[in-house]
Amino acid sequence: MSQSFDARQLRETTAAESAPTPAQFRQAMLRHLQYTVGKSPQQASLFDWRMALSHTVRDYAVDPWFSATRRTWDEDRKRVYYLSMEFLIGRLLEDQAINLGLRDVMVQVLAEFGLSFDEVAEGEPDAALGNGGLGRLAACYLESMATMGCPAYGYGLRYEHGLFRQHFENGRQIETPENWLATDNPWDFTRPEAAYPVGFGGELHDHDGASIWSPRSKVLASAHDTPVVGYGGQWANTLRLWAAMPSADLFNLDRFNAGDFAAASEPEALARSLSRVLYPNDTTEGGKELRLSQEYFLTSASVQDILRRYLAAHDDLLKLPEFVAIQMNDTHPAIAGPELIRLLVDEHAVDFDTAVETATSVLGYTNHTLLPEALERWSVGLMRKVLPRHLQIIETLDTQFIALQGQAPNPVRLISNDQVSMGDLAFTTSHKVNGVSALHTELVSQELFPVHNELHPGRIVNITNGVTPRRWLKLANPSLAALITDTIGAGWESDLERLRELEPYAEDPAFRDAFGRSKRQAKEHFTGWLAAEHGIELPAEALYDAQVKRLHEYKRQLLNILWTIAHWQRIKRDPQANWVPRVKIFGGKAAPSYHMAKLIIQLINDVAEVVNNDPETRHLLRVVYPPNYGVSMAEKLIPAADLSEQISTAGMEASGTGNMKFALNGALTIGTLDGANVEIREHVGAENFFLFGLTTEQVGERRAQQGHSRAALEASQTLRDVLQAIAEGTFSPEDHHRYDGLLETMWNSDWFLVASDFEDYDRAQGEVADCYSDPEKWQRMAILNIARMGYFSSDRSIREYMSQIWDVESAL
Ligand SMILES: *Cc1c(COP(=O)(O)O)cnc(C)c1O
Repeated sequence: MSQSFDARQLRETTAAESAPTPAQFRQAMLRHLQYTVGKSPQQASLFDWRMALSHTVRDYAVDPWFSATRRTWDEDRKRVYYLSMEFLIGRLLEDQAINLGLRDVMVQVLAEFGLSFDEVAEGEPDAALGNGGLGRLAACYLESMATMGCPAYGYGLRYEHGLFRQHFENGRQIETPENWLATDNPWDFTRPEAAYPVGFGGELHDHDGASIWSPRSKVLASAHDTPVVGYGGQWANTLRLWAAMPSADLFNLDRFNAGDFAAASEPEALARSLSRVLYPNDTTEGGKELRLSQEYFLTSASVQDILRRYLAAHDDLLKLPEFVAIQMNDTHPAIAGPELIRLLVDEHAVDFDTAVETATSVLGYTNHTLLPEALERWSVGLMRKVLPRHLQIIETLDTQFIALQGQAPNPVRLISNDQVSMGDLAFTTSHKVNGVSALHTELVSQELFPVHNELHPGRIVNITNGVTPRRWLKLANPSLAALITDTIGAGWESDLERLRELEPYAEDPAFRDAFGRSKRQAKEHFTGWLAAEHGIELPAEALYDAQVKRLHEYKRQLLNILWTIAHWQRIKRDPQANWVPRVKIFGGKAAPSYHMAKLIIQLINDVAEVVNNDPETRHLLRVVYPPNYGVSMAEKLIPAADLSEQISTAGMEASGTGNMKFALNGALTIGTLDGANVEIREHVGAENFFLFGLTTEQVGERRAQQGHSRAALEASQTLRDVLQAIAEGTFSPEDHHRYDGLLETMWNSDWFLVASDFEDYDRAQGEVADCYSDPEKWQRMAILNIARMGYFSSDRSIREYMSQIWDVESAL
């Protein structure tokens, strides 16, 4: 069991013990400016100031980092290793400063030099080493593990180029490379001594019944560490990112001398590409061989590092599960099972069955999706080419798994149709498998792994996702955070259930007014940035209605924009009616090869062009789509939103975390019964949530009905008018056929049931507008949302992982 600790006490001790005075902080910063950056205050640019400031803040992270590391060794504690191909971190300066209790002093000292912190901080590039929710979850979990005092390492890849940058040309998405390492990364500690060779390809030889793998090429994985400080500065963990390095001794001089220059430089070429770029596709597997190699590179380097650390203090590898827990964030690192078995058997002479048992006790697997296109499968041919020894191990595991199923006529297999199923592999090599919301876990048990579930009852557990309240409330929404602290006192930041103390204030007119003012401030902060950065001016007096997330058909941005067109048509029919002014905000990137998602982006931008330039409706309806949605934009946008669009086809969103960030910041949700929406609604109360749409079960039934899309369209004059307008080229006067494919889908297939849910969505949007016209009622609902969102702190999720999966205790 994890120990609980008193968050308030934690905050006071650190504030009293280690917070520097402004004079001390100022001196430390000026020292870095002079001796690290090499500038005087008179010459320093914003970049120079940011570097000096970051190094100063980083210095304060080092002491808790050292002491946490030392204590973990001294007390011989169990450690958690979180393996993830993605960490969508965003900026670190303000986050670290808040957790170290340095934000106020930092802002004050900068002001003494006539500098605004916001201006200095705005120069920091986002660490965008992830696509969306899965990578952001890993970042929230790292921060919560540090806050909870859970000894842990995050392991990932140090991509030279993170997620691509997005801009629009004539409404179409254009991708350009992201370059976060173009200037110094002040958070990075290079660890050249922590380097491991990772092998690829080659042959297997039989030697006395044992398999000997001679890889064709080897690449060196070299570590870069970033300290991750928990809130209150009591504990810090390490994020260790691997960079691929060609190494002099890996260069094959024999082959080179024999004239085979290409083969000789193969390791160098592979090394250059392995950690070069993040795959921009968060649901499909992408460019096969390189992707598999990246996954293995991360996993092998991490597992070698884990064993090295364990063996530095222990000698009995069979006790590994007492001291090591490895969590696989989705199947991307699922080769960890075979890799750990390989190292135990081939390098440490453990017998095969014991190695399997040991690996399984150490490993946990988090499933993030049911989408069939996202369940990784590698062809046996590719596996044999890249990882021949691992394929051999998987074949043995497959044989054992079939045997476990006894006489089953059609046993589930790890290898079928000449493909290795990484989900099934991850399941069989883990002692716990978790879904990420109650509904999703139910579907994981019933739809995805029913056979596994029967063979291993109790292996599947649910751990509903959460988000860190430090970044997503205290940092992102300073005006609301200050109001909360003024009302219920400090300490809610690491004890989020305390927000419940706000409930009675929903009935307090003075508090409601104060909440209204804080929302207004967040809107001004967002619109100020939008005007400065993108030249987009927005009215302050409007309902801000936001859908920001990756572009995917199942998330149904299409439903939202089609409704927006319907709304525009209605206003035009009756411009004098009592309309609630709305700003429709969209944000998000589409995978570069995802044609339909890109077409939907273009449609949104085309609609924006027409609607925003319509003098009849301009004051009542705007559509904005600021390009390049990422963590830093989310931090400005989410606090400004009144309405959160969480409208995926039921059964398709595993959890969502955007939904949590919005509700925590006092936006009301319009949503389906999907993912964590179900639990958010239960927590905030059905009367404080705008529900619509088919349930998961009804989705299944509707899809089975022949001609459901046509039937739904025939039943909705409103939606037919919308499609008609698109077909007539209202939004693409230069190309009437631009959306033919999209319209064809709407009429004839509509897998995501946009038409089926349209009328009910329209009804719910009507309720939203009615409710917003009564500010008192709206604010009451919004306050109750905030007060009841404590459950969705990632601290709660981490506490559950610690007790239900990792069996590890807090060191605090
Ligand atoms: C939270 C977050 C996500 C996940 O959003 P969903 O609505 O849950 O899909 C994606 N991208 C960024 C930048 C985020 O901050």
